[in-house]
Amino acid sequence: MRKFPGELIVAPLCLLSLHVSLHAEPVCETPDIDFQFLSAEMRPSALPFVRQIPVAIQAVCEWWGPTYNGAFHIVVNNVLRQSMALVPAWYGKIGYIFFPDSVVYLNRGGAATIHEVTHVFAPNANRFLAEGLAVYAHEHLKGPPAYPNFGADIKVLARKYADKADISSFDKTGTPTPLRFSSDKLEEREIYVLAGSFVRYLISEFGFSKFRELYALTPLIPGSRNAGNAKRWEEVYGLTIDQLTSNWRADLDAH
Ligand SMILES: [Zn+2]
Repeated sequence: MRKFPGELIVAPLCLLSLHVSLHAEPVCETPDIDFQFLSAEMRPSALPFVRQIPVAIQAVCEWWGPTYNGAFHIVVNNVLRQSMALVPAWYGKIGYIFFPDSVVYLNRGGAATIHEVTHVFAPNANRFLAEGLAVYAHEHLKGPPAYPNFGADIKVLARKYADKADISSFDKTGTPTPLRFSSDKLEEREIYVLAGSFVRYLISEFGFSKFRELYALTPLIPGSRNAGNAKRWEEVYGLTIDQLTSNWRADLDAH
């Protein structure tokens, strides 16, 4: 018996739909977000900040990928002087982001929203890379002017401090150790700018997937400190960290 001609059409269509469903991109779902205002009831001037959080989550998720699909707990407080998400992640509290109420109220939307959300989607055991990526992402995804560059171009700022930068020393800092301990010549804010600039250089020069390859070698494991081996730079980029540092400096000077 001859085959029903429709089968010839239907069968490939079924295969096609199977193909599509197997290769469907994971999507960024609307997350659960709860806000806690610890020092006092939320004042209306915090509204721009509150509205920015889901926008920042969406932007980071679409850029980095849906590597986190849990709830977000945004804690506005008057105890911690800096915003943070990476340190809570190291303590096993991924999804918790702390913002000082001074940032939420006084600067009106000047909180490092994209920066902190990046730590949730892309935490890392190497503090230098984690902060560099967060600073770069905040600039790249156009977060509001915030720490550490407050809207200035990180490459332009980095030129001022690059002479004092010891990138291979920064690279030895394991989360949650603060980056300020990796230099006695630079302020923490300046190291953050340099980290952002270095990551921006790596991504623009060698591409995003190479950076992700390097980044994946130092996954954050709560409670464990491991900044990674210096040899991994050569394995991924074919250049030592010192060679990459020289190239980064040359690139800063060239433009
Ligand atoms: Zn950070």
